Amino acid sequence: MPELPEVETVVAGLRSRLEGRRVRELVFLSPHLSRKQSFSVLSPEVYRGKKIERIWRRGKMIIFSFSGGCGLLIHLKMTGQLYLCPSEQFPDKHTHARMTFSGLKEELRFRDIRKFGFLDCLRMPEILRRVNSELGPEPLALNLAEFRDLLGRHGRKKIKAWLLDQKIIAGIGNIYSDEILFRAGIKPDRPAGELSLDEVRKLSRAMKSVLRKAIELKGSSISDYVDASGEKGRFQQKHLVYDREGQPCLRCRKSAIRREKIAGRSSFFCPSCQR
Ligand SMILES: [Zn+2]
Repeated sequence: MPELPEVETVVAGLRSRLEGRRVRELVFLSPHLSRKQSFSVLSPEVYRGKKIERIWRRGKMIIFSFSGGCGLLIHLKMTGQLYLCPSEQFPDKHTHARMTFSGLKEELRFRDIRKFGFLDCLRMPEILRRVNSELGPEPLALNLAEFRDLLGRHGRKKIKAWLLDQKIIAGIGNIYSDEILFRAGIKPDRPAGELSLDEVRKLSRAMKSVLRKAIELKGSSISDYVDASGEKGRFQQKHLVYDREGQPCLRCRKSAIRREKIAGRSSFFCPSCQR
């Protein structure tokens, strides 16, 4: 699933190409998209002639705001892709929506093989209400005191589950939580509230550096992830534990990376380097 760095990369690519553009039309190609719009009040026709004012990321969600107060709330979930491609390229059966623009030969496509993602047509206040009720703060915006406070407030949760809980902290998923915990030297099953101040500091630092480095390398391409122009990311080459079960730890070089189910998810860690 695309996490914060992948979604940030997609957003950066779309922002530079689409902000300020006027929509020609938004078309839904598959009925499941309309059916999934439980909160939706707007039909795709509403977007005709509207200007894209801003595109940004919140957690793993993508938000478009348009002139006239309407917006789009998009989640890529497992296999969703949001990218620009030439309009003449025929959309395949996994392409569920397309948006065309005045004066642009390329169009925006929403493609999703497993159909867990969503693209909801909503008014902006509804989008902001939903995002604020479903998502905790952004990890890159937290200072150490805020981060420590947040750990204490949900202190009984295992740190792996804590990092994955979007309501506590937004944007981190299974890959980055493992990479962050390895770099911080903390075992994934430790309770969040029992970390020492030194560990909290290490965790905060690891979280920010992993996410920033991953953004710089345009994310990790594990399965279907591609950025706004269809390119793969490079952070998967920097993974130290994720999907390395049984292989020697790249830091201590004596233990093998272990895989255990923690918080209902496969977690990879080094039994020697992480305590
Ligand atoms: Zn190790």
